[in-house]
Amino acid sequence: MLKKFLEQNEIAACFDESLKKHTTFRVGGNAMCIAMPDTAKKAANLIKFLNQNKIKHYFLGNGSNVIFRDEGFDGVIIKTSNLKELNLNGNLLCAGAGVSMTAAAKLAQENSLAGIECCYGIPGNIGGGVYMNAGAYGGEISACLESVDYIDEKGNLHTITKEQCDFSYRHSAFMKNDWFIVSARFRLNEGDSAQLWSFMEDIMNRRRDKQPLDKPSAGSSFKRPVGYFAAALIDECGLKGLTVGGAQVSDKHAGFIVNIGDATCQDIVRLADKVTRIVLEEKGVQLEKEMIIV
Ligand SMILES: Cc1cc2nc3c(=O)[nH]c(=O)nc-3n(C[C@H](O)[C@H](O)[C@H](O)COP(=O)(O)OP(=O)(O)OC[C@H]3O[C@@H](n4cnc5c(N)ncnc54)[C@H](O)[C@@H]3O)c2cc1C
Repeated sequence: MLKKFLEQNEIAACFDESLKKHTTFRVGGNAMCIAMPDTAKKAANLIKFLNQNKIKHYFLGNGSNVIFRDEGFDGVIIKTSNLKELNLNGNLLCAGAGVSMTAAAKLAQENSLAGIECCYGIPGNIGGGVYMNAGAYGGEISACLESVDYIDEKGNLHTITKEQCDFSYRHSAFMKNDWFIVSARFRLNEGDSAQLWSFMEDIMNRRRDKQPLDKPSAGSSFKRPVGYFAAALIDECGLKGLTVGGAQVSDKHAGFIVNIGDATCQDIVRLADKVTRIVLEEKGVQLEKEMIIV
């Protein structure tokens, strides 16, 4: 029934697919199906169909903040990789959920527009970035966001303003609702292209210097606790290099858990829990995972 629906609606899909290929941590079992609609209409039809037929589903961007369990996912992953429209009209930048944040930031910079340059180098897509309210080096994706188009559980398309998105640190309204982000609009500010590029090059170099980009990970494993830095707390507890199976607290950046071989999801969860327990015991600070375990 699902296969027939996908074929009839011309939605690209693969079945019994390893989720290792779809997440930057390179862990997880197989997904029953990964569907990649290329228009909002197709995504809406698919969501309506899945909900009507009570088929479990999950939305996925570039998989750079998600880890799937070793048992896999017994349902349909709706991946945004084919929603790639990106255009600029004056200072209004419109990006499909599947556009990489780096590509959007580059287009803005090339056109002397400021507001999303902090997203350059974050390895996620616009949909995942908006969902997470991704940010770095003092900025957040939501800063210049004007509105978001999303599809609700019934397959209806809506537009909401930035205020309705309820953004705060690594938080958005999308976390409380089963809404599929289709695209986002950003009202950018006039900037200097050369200055923007120099900032973007600088943050990219800082990433290369400080982060273990040669090893699979989901970036910072923990959110920043109020008043502290997770990496500093973990480092002060002497946990760099702590290993469970194939998962390790990076030697280069204590805030990153990395996959040093054949890590399983269970290895990562066990290690993250161990780090959380030790930091609480030694520093009295409760860490909260930033990576999402599905
Ligand atoms: C090396 C490295 C460095 C990183 N650096 C940073 C950083 O500096 N700052 C930062 O904030 N993050 C960072 N991250 C984490 C990650 O890149 C961000 O959280 C990013 O926003 C995730 O985007 P994604 O497309 O990969 O989303 P995914 O990981 O695929 O998904 C994240 C969440 O968003 C949901 N989602 C995705 N797309 C949609 C959609 N269209 N509609 C509704 N929900 C959706 C998913 O269901 C999931 O819950 C880093 C990760 C890595 C691996």
